[in-house]
Amino acid sequence: MTRRLSLALPSKGRLREPSWSLLEASGVSPQEPGERVLQAHCRNADIDLLFVRADDVPEYVQDGVVDCGITGLDLVYERETNIEVLLRLGYGTCSLQAAVPMEDSATGIGDLDGRRIATSHPRIAARVLAERGITAEIVPVAGSVEISPRLGLADAIIDLVSTGSTLRTNGLRSLGVLFESEAVLIGRVGSTDFEARRILTMVLGSVINARANRYLLCNVSKDRLDEMTALLPTTGSPTVMDLATPGVVAVHALVPAADIWSLLPKLEACGATSILTLPVERMVP
Ligand code: AMP
Repeated sequence: MTRRLSLALPSKGRLREPSWSLLEASGVSPQEPGERVLQAHCRNADIDLLFVRADDVPEYVQDGVVDCGITGLDLVYERETNIEVLLRLGYGTCSLQAAVPMEDSATGIGDLDGRRIATSHPRIAARVLAERGITAEIVPVAGSVEISPRLGLADAIIDLVSTGSTLRTNGLRSLGVLFESEAVLIGRVGSTDFEARRILTMVLGSVINARANRYLLCNVSKDRLDEMTALLPTTGSPTVMDLATPGVVAVHALVPAADIWSLLPKLEACGATSILTLPVERMVP
């Protein structure tokens, strides 16, 4: 028997909605908490949820307040917590980038040597700069990092970027990426609750994997089957079934969602008809 598992979820901010919808998609049916509720239970699974700020999740997990948590990888590194990353969740993707005002002469991260850099990620920034042999003065700021150069607080910034539009809006130019982040499921180091954690990791992982794939169905004449299956960007073997119409077969395969755009015209050109792609709910290898 597995005991109840406690899971910390971001209560607000960018990671709240996608974390919530991941739990819903994985079928555990979390009970929607009210605005001020800090705890909830899941209907279909032995999981207790605790709603806390994403920044606090690494400490809660490290200190054993909860068994597992969802947070950003950047926050795990910034808090320098000793936890295990159990699963990368594929959302909340962003990168820590160094940027300077458009008119600055710097062309690469190496040009930041000896300069003042504002950041709300002082620990990761210091670590990644040191790894590159760059000595800079880190100016820790809590928010609105992008305006620091204009205020004369710093020459450059190091900040999380997803699309780059905030940098552009503030007249800044990226010098490059220092660290890639995404939402992660984390667990306590030395936890003995292996089975409950394994099940949570497997169930969430099955949804993450499924989201990245589509189930493809199409018909093709038997004499072009080899040509058609050679086009499929799949690792597994496609399913091939005879149809009532002689000489025509149905092909079913799992294909990466990112390849659908380039694959469809090729399948069409190969004589495939009745092409359907369907979302996949779960994939357990
Ligand atoms: P919050 O400040 O609560 O909205 O969430 C911040 C977390 O969201 C960060 O620690 C990152 O893991 C993630 N994130 C994703 N994209 C961005 C972005 N463009 N800027 C800041 N944080 C981001």
